[in-house]
Amino acid sequence: MRGVIMHAPGDVRVEERDDPKIIEPTDAIIRLSATCICGSDLWPYRGADDVHDAPMGHEYVGVVEEVGAEVKTVRPGDFVIGSFWASDNTCEICRAGYQSHCVHRVLMGTIGTQAERARIPLADGTLVATPGMPDDELIPSFLALSDVLGTGWFAAVAAEAGPGKTVAVVGDGAVGLLGVLAAKQLGAERIIAMSRHAGRQALAREFGATDIVAERGDDGVAKIKELTDGLGAHSVIEAVGTQEAMMQAINSARPGGHVGFVGVSHDVEISGELMFGTGIHLHGGPAPVRRFLPDLIQLIWDRKIDPGKVFDLTLPLDQAADGYKAMDERRATKVMLTV
Ligand SMILES: [Zn+2]
Repeated sequence: MRGVIMHAPGDVRVEERDDPKIIEPTDAIIRLSATCICGSDLWPYRGADDVHDAPMGHEYVGVVEEVGAEVKTVRPGDFVIGSFWASDNTCEICRAGYQSHCVHRVLMGTIGTQAERARIPLADGTLVATPGMPDDELIPSFLALSDVLGTGWFAAVAAEAGPGKTVAVVGDGAVGLLGVLAAKQLGAERIIAMSRHAGRQALAREFGATDIVAERGDDGVAKIKELTDGLGAHSVIEAVGTQEAMMQAINSARPGGHVGFVGVSHDVEISGELMFGTGIHLHGGPAPVRRFLPDLIQLIWDRKIDPGKVFDLTLPLDQAADGYKAMDERRATKVMLTV
C-alpha cells in the first residue's frame, strides 16, 4: 500500500509500505476513506521534534475490512471513526472518560494513518461506527472528529464553556476554530476568537465567535480584559502549545476561571508563583476524543454541525508533501488527503 514517510524534517515522501495485518485478536484493519495532516505533524516537519524515517498520520476514517477473532462491536463493511489514541474503553481510566490515558493505549501516530490502510489496535474500544454509510459530503466532518473536533471539544469542556460564560480562544488553527464551534454548541454566551488572519476570523465567526481580537501576548490579554469589565474570561481555550500562547491563555482567565489547554506543549514552563497568584483551574493535555465520539457522530450525522469546513485544501495522498508545505507556510489551515 501507499503511505507517507517523513525521512527527516522537511522531507516527506509517499512510498510503498507493507500492508497492515491483524497482529492481536483485538485488531481491525480499515481501508481509509480520507486522512489528513495535523498541526502537530508540523513540529517534526520544522525540526522541533526528532524525526527519522517515520510513518506519519494519526487521523482516520474508513471502512472496516477485517477484524481479529475477539472483535465484537465493529464488522467488515462498517464505516468507522477512531481517535489518535487507541484505547480499550474498559479500564478504570477509560471509564472515567480519560481514554487518551488508557492503561493499554496505543498512539496511532506510531502506526501512521496517512496511508491507504491501517491496523487499529483495541478495535472494540477505539472505533465507533456511524449509523450507516455516510454521504461523501459528510466525510470531511467525520475526519475532523478523529482529532481536531474532538480536541477542540475537550478544550471547551475542560475550560467549562457553557451558558452565561465568556470564552476566549487562543490559537486560530483547526483546533482553535473547532474550540469556537464547541463553545457555541455548549451554549457559551460570548466567544472571543484571537486571530489576525482574515480567512480564519471569518470561519471563527461562522462557527460562533462573537468577537475577534487580533492582538497577541500582553496586548491580547489587555484586550480580553477590556472586553470583560477588567475581569478576564470565564473560560479560555489554549490551542497552540507555545510559552507565549500559554501565558496569553492563563493571563486572559479571570480568578476562579478555567483554562483548557490542548496545544502540544513545547518548552512551556509555568511558575508555581504564577499558579498560586492567579487562582485559575488548569486542565488539558491529549484529548480523550473517544469520550465524545458517539454524541459528535450523531451531531454530524444529523447535519447540526459542519466541522469539515476547517479543511481548506484537499489533495490526493500522493501529493502529501505539497500538503505539508502548504500548512507549514500557513497557506492552508488543514489539509485533507483523499485515498
Ligand atoms: Zn482503558
